[in-house]
Amino acid sequence: MHTLAKADFIDIFVKKILAPRNLNYKIMFCGPTGTNAIEAALKLARKNTKRENILAFSGAFHGMSLGSLSITTDKLSRRGAGIPLTNVTFVPFETSDFNSINYIRNILDDDHSGIELPAAIVLETVQAEGGINVASVKWLKEIRKICDEYGILLIVDDIQVGNGRSGNFFSFERASIIPDIVVVSKSISGFGLPMSILLVKPEYDIFKPAEHNGTFRGNQLSFIGAKAAIEFFINNKLDEQTIKKGQIIEEVLRTRITNQDYRLRHRGIGMIWGIDFSMIDSTMALKCVHAAFENGLILEVAGRKDSVLKIMPPLTIEEKILKEGLAILEKCIKNVLS
Ligand code: PLP
Repeated sequence: MHTLAKADFIDIFVKKILAPRNLNYKIMFCGPTGTNAIEAALKLARKNTKRENILAFSGAFHGMSLGSLSITTDKLSRRGAGIPLTNVTFVPFETSDFNSINYIRNILDDDHSGIELPAAIVLETVQAEGGINVASVKWLKEIRKICDEYGILLIVDDIQVGNGRSGNFFSFERASIIPDIVVVSKSISGFGLPMSILLVKPEYDIFKPAEHNGTFRGNQLSFIGAKAAIEFFINNKLDEQTIKKGQIIEEVLRTRITNQDYRLRHRGIGMIWGIDFSMIDSTMALKCVHAAFENGLILEVAGRKDSVLKIMPPLTIEEKILKEGLAILEKCIKNVLS
């Protein structure tokens, strides 16, 4: 239905987020969760290209419904499907030692590769659940180029690292690439209200009315929150704040945490960071999570064997509290290491 809340959100999103970035997308409101928009993106790519295969990356996480699970890699989640998850080709992500660009070109060029031309390449520019793997600008540009050359749609899943998390509103901005489809959810609504949207280049917007429908598409309260969040983002220059606070996190990680043991590694961007324990003992990451919780700090684990401690504070956190949290983290890691 058309409502004022919806119109106001569309208005501010188009004028203040899309237009200044020269992004011309149609907006599709999906069911309330991220995974629903991923399903819509996959359907739309397949419908546009009349192809079945999708190319996704090892370490990816895209959600828990069947289409999303088919492009998600962790075994535990995939087993939940209970049926074969098919029509997807996985390629190692950039941050492995493997040259994925050469490999993708190879399988696309080789008429004996046994791999069908995909409808879409789907990626997170920063694999979050996969262990905070940040794709380089060069790699992202190469992927865009491959998509252009072979007529493949590029889908960017910005559910977790969009909405300002990486320092720009969209995580792909740093690479100056324009995906064909962008999936946005989670923080778009400002404060945990259910909302997910698909941004689609107009030429690919070919769903017929109600072809991908659902009862709870476009939650009215979420629109109000989303509009307020965009106003807050702009009025408080949240992008600049995120970069500044990200530098604070990086400095603490570099000078007080990963220097405690030469086998520790840190990586991240904006306000999503990880500390990789895999070269010492993967179980240490979870031990740090428990130790931190005892001290009033909530952290998560991510990545292979849960070996990466995930640091993801709210973008609105005050510097003083951020520094307190990092001090707790430093102490906990020291204790666990010793
Ligand atoms: N894609 C990414 C990158 C995510 O991080 C998530 C959730 O964590 C999803 C998709 C799925 O979103 P939802 O849990 O809202 O279905």
